[in-house]
Amino acid sequence: MTTSARLKTYFEKRNENKTPEPFSSDDVDPNHLVFVIQKHQATALHYDFRLEFDGVMLSWAVPKGPTLDPSMKRLAMKTEEHPLDYRHFEGKIPEGQYGAGTVTIWDYGTYWPEVEENGVRKQIRSKKEAEEVLKVGLEKGELKFFLEGKKLKGSFALVKTKGFGGRNAWLLIKHKDEYTKEGFDAKDFPLSAKTQKSLEDLAAD
Ligand code: MN
Repeated sequence: MTTSARLKTYFEKRNENKTPEPFSSDDVDPNHLVFVIQKHQATALHYDFRLEFDGVMLSWAVPKGPTLDPSMKRLAMKTEEHPLDYRHFEGKIPEGQYGAGTVTIWDYGTYWPEVEENGVRKQIRSKKEAEEVLKVGLEKGELKFFLEGKKLKGSFALVKTKGFGGRNAWLLIKHKDEYTKEGFDAKDFPLSAKTQKSLEDLAAD
């Protein structure tokens, strides 16, 4: 089954079960690229790190969550692309459905890819050019970008591992910059960046 077919089935199932429709209409911003990090208590807790690219959200599951500490590389398993407006989803995914559990919007905002020129990182702030830079980065297995979120800010990289961890294994790495925070641990900042709710609050709703 292709990625889009899997997701179509997933959303059809949601509708059949009459889960309240959490998705807004498609609201692509022509001037910005967006990202979201959804904290997801499924069978195992993980953080779904999603970057807008070409009308979808590229996705990686980060078991330990992102960090602002450059000395800690986080395993990030590439997962299925998600629809762009899935980034607004916060709430419960019912039992028996793919990803059953609870989701909070741990962080969200805009991002820009970066290129390095003479050892200096530069943000590509035109969406059209940005998507071209991202395309090359995806093929190469190395994305560099600057996040402007509520919890996370600064320069990061996602780098495909050279085989260890399987073919979907990448590493999420914070570059050294003025936003670096030694010892930053996602679990110390548990609340939704959007509603200030915890996973427990949402599970109880
Ligand atoms: Mn997930």
